[in-house]
Amino acid sequence: MSTTGAPSPIAYSESALSFRKEIRIWLADNAPDEVRGLRVPREPSPEIEAVIARWAQTLTEARLMCVAWPEEYGGRGLSGVEVAIMNEEFDRIDVPRLTRGMGESLVGPAIIAHATPEQKRRFLPPIISGEHVYCQGFSEPGAGSDLASLTTSAIVDADRLVINGQKVWTSGFFKANMIFTLVRTNPDAPKHHGISYVLVPITIDGKPNGIEFRPINRMTGLAHFSETFFADAVAPLDNVIGGLNHGWQTAMTTLGSERGASATTAHLAFFRRFWQLVGQVRARGLIDDVRVREQLAWMYAEAEVLRYTGFQLMATLASGNTPGGAGNGSSNKIRWSEYERRMAEIAMDLLGPDSLVVGPGYELDEWQEEFLVTRSHTIWGGTAEVQRNIVGERVLGLPKDPQPISSTTPRGNQ
Ligand SMILES: Cc1cc2nc3c(=O)[nH]c(=O)nc-3n(C[C@H](O)[C@H](O)[C@H](O)COP(=O)(O)OP(=O)(O)OC[C@H]3O[C@@H](n4cnc5c(N)ncnc54)[C@H](O)[C@@H]3O)c2cc1C
Repeated sequence: MSTTGAPSPIAYSESALSFRKEIRIWLADNAPDEVRGLRVPREPSPEIEAVIARWAQTLTEARLMCVAWPEEYGGRGLSGVEVAIMNEEFDRIDVPRLTRGMGESLVGPAIIAHATPEQKRRFLPPIISGEHVYCQGFSEPGAGSDLASLTTSAIVDADRLVINGQKVWTSGFFKANMIFTLVRTNPDAPKHHGISYVLVPITIDGKPNGIEFRPINRMTGLAHFSETFFADAVAPLDNVIGGLNHGWQTAMTTLGSERGASATTAHLAFFRRFWQLVGQVRARGLIDDVRVREQLAWMYAEAEVLRYTGFQLMATLASGNTPGGAGNGSSNKIRWSEYERRMAEIAMDLLGPDSLVVGPGYELDEWQEEFLVTRSHTIWGGTAEVQRNIVGERVLGLPKDPQPISSTTPRGNQ
């Protein structure tokens, strides 16, 4: 069932409507009962993992993975509008819309835009099949927003790179068998010109490749990211994407994709959470309380605003523009990340003392976890402050802030 009963305010093209029909029929015929209503937890049990793997396989066979990639690379060449339609249809019957994670959304677009034909043949199919699972080694202790200050270095040794240094906040390291990372390959070149973008296997022939992950606990208690140390890790020179010392442009493609088109359908999850909270509040007999209603009204109205800005973004996509451009991407990132934070705060407030109680073994419930996790959403993928700078300078044309790192391109600024 749709999470928002309101009619769509945009007129879809004939081809978009027929695509919606195709997806709807396919889902009716192929979505098994085991995935209907399935919530993928942040730490799935082995049973849920198995269900997810089966569903991922079904989607792969139906060519419903990496759907935005061009057909020649195994995707379906779907437009942003069609991707949004697909998300809506999955949401309508409440089945998980699985993707190939960072491989699909961050590395794939960079390979498609900057790799050689041979590299595309070698690296794209294993992302679609799920054989290669990537994590992102960009941030360093002294280079987050100021990404080009990175110091992890690599030297050329015959036909390979030998990598040494440290990264941090490597999300999903525990699932990955590949890491895409930025390394300084020419210390004498200007800051943005001596960097290479390289795909590094985490093991080689089953043996460790000099990469050590030291897990960092998040507030939720889960170690979802790590410090990452490279000690003489190696990667073939053929794994450098975009050319040796020319990795910055490749990295910019990845960062542009990081904010991507998810804003077009983020509201689907927001409405789902809203109705969930309404149910909980009603069960507590608080639904007629004016103060409660005010907060719920804000939550609903803002989700509607996000829905409409999502449609606006869809229109941009339909006109052939990409959503990663400075204005759309940054303002959407600010809006949804701040909305998510506030939404979880409201839930904590409305659930009152219950929000403080944790389960046996100290498990968090969904809202407690949401509250803690969403603190970080205004940080990753470019902080809200950096996004505001981009909107101010690039969209509104305000004068640049005098800043100590003025020679750099802040993360997320493309
Ligand atoms: C949950 C989570 C997952 C992450 N996953 C990954 C991952 O998988 N791989 C990866 O490589 N990285 C990852 N990161 C790192 C993330 O991209 C960085 O944290 C982010 O880019 C900010 O960098 P920083 O932490 O070094 O902060 P800093 O750059 O040190 O910034 C500190 C503060 O200063 C502000 N600031 C900095 N520069 C400016 C400026 N020019 N103008 C105004 N304010 C400024 C920032 O907004 C921030 O508030 C993750 C982070 C989080 C929280």
